[in-house]
Amino acid sequence: MIQELDIDPEVIKLCQEKEKELVDIFQDIDKKEYENTLKVLSAFHKNQISEVHFNSTTGYGYNDIGRDTIEKVFADILGSEDALVRSQFISGTHALTVALFAYLRPNDRMLSISGTPYDTLHEVIGIKKNPSSLSSFGVTYDQIDLVNDDFDYDKIKTYLQEHKVKLIEIQRSKGYSTRKSIGIDQIQKVVQEIRKVDQEVIIMIDNCYCEFVETITPIEVGCDVMVGSLIKNLGGGIAPNGAYIAGKKELIELAGERLTCPGEGKEVGPTLGINKQILQGIFFAPSVVAASLKTAVLTSKVLEDLGYEVEPKYQDNRVDIVQNIIFHNKEGLIKYCQGIQMASPIDSNAIPYPWDMPGYTDQVIMAAGCFTMGSSIELSCDGPLRSPYIAYQQGGLTYSYGKLGVMKAITELLRSKNEN
Ligand SMILES: *Cc1c(COP(=O)(O)O)cnc(C)c1O
Repeated sequence: MIQELDIDPEVIKLCQEKEKELVDIFQDIDKKEYENTLKVLSAFHKNQISEVHFNSTTGYGYNDIGRDTIEKVFADILGSEDALVRSQFISGTHALTVALFAYLRPNDRMLSISGTPYDTLHEVIGIKKNPSSLSSFGVTYDQIDLVNDDFDYDKIKTYLQEHKVKLIEIQRSKGYSTRKSIGIDQIQKVVQEIRKVDQEVIIMIDNCYCEFVETITPIEVGCDVMVGSLIKNLGGGIAPNGAYIAGKKELIELAGERLTCPGEGKEVGPTLGINKQILQGIFFAPSVVAASLKTAVLTSKVLEDLGYEVEPKYQDNRVDIVQNIIFHNKEGLIKYCQGIQMASPIDSNAIPYPWDMPGYTDQVIMAAGCFTMGSSIELSCDGPLRSPYIAYQQGGLTYSYGKLGVMKAITELLRSKNEN
């Protein structure tokens, strides 16, 4: 049957061998999955989830018990006072946008302390000109870059002493950059340093790809608000769309008023039949994140041993589900992504090519043969067509499938190399 996937037997042998060296790392991943499952289960029990919460509303969406309870469940799991979990968020970028526009007013100042934010936020902030950006409303933006993959603590403190900053944004996952992702220990330290000089500034976390990788959340180390997508980690591959914002009660209220309208806020928003999927998604999420992590670790190990540059390395501590392979050439990136697509359960016959995606500066290639379009908690691999040609691989609903996908991608990669 493996012949039908057309995976090189040598690649299968190699992966099975390398896998044996990963037992301890996989055990550690299992331990975290267990702890996060415990968190989820406790939240379900505390909120007495029952079939009634699977019901949903249409129209305005008044008194949607399922929706309101789901938001309590998310808040309990993430350790926050409140949460907004909505399918009306069309993406993670949209939730981040709603949050930024909810908290920032004309003449306010926003500061990123993790360098340049994710590509799709450039037009939101006004780093790239757009007539609807925060900048067009008179919001000032500044950024402080990371130094050796850590915060520039002194520069941040000096900046806060010299300027009144309304909101600090920290993006944990690397996005399409070459830096390392930011761990919860680093977040904890920088929050402590910030609070020494400024007790009021809103600390907002772009937590995309980081949920359930560790067992502590940014809120639990003192951040005010965090944002993420439901077609990434917390949707467990089951949520059909949506995103969340979790944090302080008054900040969630402001976000609700911006998402819908002032005066209605969180009280409205029909769920149109997805409550059960959201609950089932968060229930499965710890296990799906664990499968994704194992897939990433295997990828890192095998490709490093084949002589490719990878980040993180297989034994590194992980803070998100993203695995980078640095190809240093266009061909490798494209062939690898095409291999991931060929092994996908959906659209395996499609061949991805680089294209001009809205919101991104360079052309991007994206392999995502997913049940949910664009979902990147399902095995997916993408990257901008710019030097050093890095593949950003993430997801894997099950480890067995993740492994097969990676073996197929490596097969395609090695074949193209032998042809040249
Ligand atoms: C995925 C992601 C986002 C949001 O992307 P969407 O595709 O709009 O959901 C934002 N920041 C980071 C770091 C991400 O990985």
